[in-house]
Amino acid sequence: MNEYDSNRILDLVKPIGYTATNNPSEADCYVLNTCHIREKATDKVYHDIGRLKKEFRNKKKPMLLVTGCVAQAENEEMLNREKYIDGIIGPQSYHQIAGIIKKIENNKNKINSTEFEVIDKFDSLNLVKNSNTKISSFLTIQEGCDKFCHFCVVPYTRGPEHSRSLNEIIIEAEQLIDNGCKEITLLGQNVNAYEYKTKEQTFRLADLIIKLNNLEKLKRIRYTTSHPNDVTKDLIEAHASCEKLMPILHLPVQSGSSKILDVMNRKHNILEYHQIIENFKKAKPNIKFSSDFIIGYPGETEDDFNQTLKLIEKVKFINSYSFVYSSRPGTPASKLDNVDTNVAKKRLVKLQAILEKNNSKYKEGFLDKSIEVLFENKLKNQNKYFGRDKYLNSVIVQSEKNLTGKILDIKIDNFNHNSLFGTIIPEKISFEA
Ligand code: SF4
Repeated sequence: MNEYDSNRILDLVKPIGYTATNNPSEADCYVLNTCHIREKATDKVYHDIGRLKKEFRNKKKPMLLVTGCVAQAENEEMLNREKYIDGIIGPQSYHQIAGIIKKIENNKNKINSTEFEVIDKFDSLNLVKNSNTKISSFLTIQEGCDKFCHFCVVPYTRGPEHSRSLNEIIIEAEQLIDNGCKEITLLGQNVNAYEYKTKEQTFRLADLIIKLNNLEKLKRIRYTTSHPNDVTKDLIEAHASCEKLMPILHLPVQSGSSKILDVMNRKHNILEYHQIIENFKKAKPNIKFSSDFIIGYPGETEDDFNQTLKLIEKVKFINSYSFVYSSRPGTPASKLDNVDTNVAKKRLVKLQAILEKNNSKYKEGFLDKSIEVLFENKLKNQNKYFGRDKYLNSVIVQSEKNLTGKILDIKIDNFNHNSLFGTIIPEKISFEA
């Protein structure tokens, strides 16, 4: 979502004469768009500012704005602690950035803009065309979260759940498509909680996907991140009926133990999670799943951990994320006793080895097979192109011709931990650009 927000920030500051630079040491204004999900997020921001101060020691100080969830969480404290910062802007106020820059230019006053006015934000953003020209683009449709998992800061930094209007989203999708976009990933902290009500009708994520599926020049649709409790029947059906909706779903589970899910306040148990997976498979037999795992959550025993391993073996997740639990200040989980760090780290190593083994086996299955790849860009200084298959696997091929934006059948010859490597199947070239 920060990538989407950063692009929109660029769109917002263009009218006042600012543009992105490839030469950061000559920037007039720095925007540090921060994420609070990462461990020690706040320390990293101060570390980045330290580097900036060094770089500009003998030059004119650039304006420094800290945006995003760290700005929201730290608020006034940030301005008091680090005098180099000129303004802090929360994720729900960044639509005001052009006005804030102008005010700072004129008055040199410090500015704190961290209100939760999400409707106001999207009203403003709708007036500014999305100029992103990526082949695969993000599009925020929903923000915030009402779930309050006990380990997570998002409900406090992004605020309550809010869904944008269906029309706004379609208009922005059409702008992206006009810019050359072929694949849209719909974004939301709880994307499948998307719900937009008019007097006559309630639109959910499935309705939006069906509308996007009808846009001729759009080739692929994805959405992330979903909560198991917001999976609805119509969403499952959309996976069966919308051919552009890609057959992979990121469905975070965090733990395979119902006891730990309860302590996490995830509001579902593991049997319910299995049932959801089965329902998706029934509707779309070739669907695959990825997930997030928190290892060593407070109270996790060896038995709980083994239940997570069992879940991984059963579902055979691809491309998942796993971390040792680390506490976030102010969350309910931060008051609980932590699992011994060494125990948690050993569990993570074991779990990641299993994920990696499954992943290798999965990738081996691609050898000598043909897969459909949407190419996104050329690799720097090489005649190689990067693209993704339907399952989000990255694929690299050599080509003298420009493949950007094309969907091609590729024969896979090799793979490593990160990517599949292949060659174009000549008789199947179907340039779609
Ligand atoms: S559902 Fe996701 S965003 Fe919301 S509190 Fe839980 S982990 Fe955080």
